[in-house]
Amino acid sequence: MRVTSAFSRLVRLPGVWVRHVRFEPDRVEIEVALRRRRLQCPRCAFSTAARKDTRPVDSVWRHLDLGVWRLEIRCRRRRLRCPHHGVLAEAVPFARHRAHFTRDFECLVAWLAARADKTTIRRLLRLDWDTVGRIIARVCADELDCDRLDELYDIGIDEVSWRKQHSYLTLVADHRGGKIVWGCEGAGEKAADAFFAELDREIAAGSPLPDGDDCEPTVGERAGTLAAISLDMGHGYAKSARRHAPQATICIDPYHVVQLANSALDEVRRGDWNELRHLGDQQAAKRFKDARWSLPKKPENLTDTQAATLARLKAAGGEVWRAYTLKEATRGTFAPGLTVDDVTILIDRLLSRLARSRPEPFIRLGRTIRKHRDGILAAIRLGINQGRTEALNNKVQLIIRRAHGFHSGRAALALVTLTCRPITPHLPHALHSPTH
Ligand SMILES: [Zn+2]
Repeated sequence: MRVTSAFSRLVRLPGVWVRHVRFEPDRVEIEVALRRRRLQCPRCAFSTAARKDTRPVDSVWRHLDLGVWRLEIRCRRRRLRCPHHGVLAEAVPFARHRAHFTRDFECLVAWLAARADKTTIRRLLRLDWDTVGRIIARVCADELDCDRLDELYDIGIDEVSWRKQHSYLTLVADHRGGKIVWGCEGAGEKAADAFFAELDREIAAGSPLPDGDDCEPTVGERAGTLAAISLDMGHGYAKSARRHAPQATICIDPYHVVQLANSALDEVRRGDWNELRHLGDQQAAKRFKDARWSLPKKPENLTDTQAATLARLKAAGGEVWRAYTLKEATRGTFAPGLTVDDVTILIDRLLSRLARSRPEPFIRLGRTIRKHRDGILAAIRLGINQGRTEALNNKVQLIIRRAHGFHSGRAALALVTLTCRPITPHLPHALHSPTH
């Protein structure tokens, strides 16, 4: 067998034949030619027999490594004039538009990104993290399941901050499937509007969405099947949800109530800690340093050291301990297994306790809960429990921590999408196996 035919079978790229193989000190360069005569626009279905010219240089894509060798595919591409997109280099069947990697290589990156940590991926593939981000954003844009927005009944819209300086992503979860089905950069009403626009495209395209609440918008077919939408307590998402899916019950996910109690507790703890430091009580400040980590945890999840810190806080009493018991009372109100009647009693008991409580952040918490009491109870009635959202949220938080290194929200979003489903990345060998 000739070297070129051997490499043709080894690299297994569709639509090309190998013209030449070169061994360089650090890589193998494989020169290929396209089998098809017609030129294909890389951005649409347009194809033509007419070439404008040929690029003066080879295009280069990195392919899956071969043993220790780095593999480079080179191809001299022609250029065409697309009536919609102007003059462009022709598409190749083995790589995405504007990618410097083959589809097989990008598949591998996407598969790993959903499973392995940053260092593993970077060292194994010899890529920098931002390149990984660009690759997975491309894979996501290309391979999202188009039916992922079908048959949604019970969803949650939530924001997550993926970087400091207020960089937010809005994520829509399908509660029944326990998956994230949609996401975009940004937060608030606009982000939710974007979701509803994609849910029912024909409406978004047909009539501009009304601005005020007084106009009656047409409810989209898919938005019309939503039975429940759970939200946090901000009003941006709620406003949009009410407008686009007026039949759905808007409820407040108890998870967010507990989260709010945790931030109130943190506020009290910080105030207390600063006071201790101010008084020059270094010893006390040091002893309660890891309180930050023990306080928000469920008692059963504490490490021994954290449990000891908590015991010291209890012995010390005061504001922080009082705040802790209030937080635990809030969490207990939404414990799994309670009926709506149980929660109704507990929530009212909690409200009267919070109204009498001293640390100011908890008085505020009480006011917020009172304002959203109906929405919270609606969530319990519909069986939206804290545990489910929490599990998904913890998963998202883990991924978001890895996404910190990315420079674009698009890449962060792609990482969430790859890990919490709508896309199931395949490994290259699975794509090429005869049974696939
Ligand atoms: Zn085109």
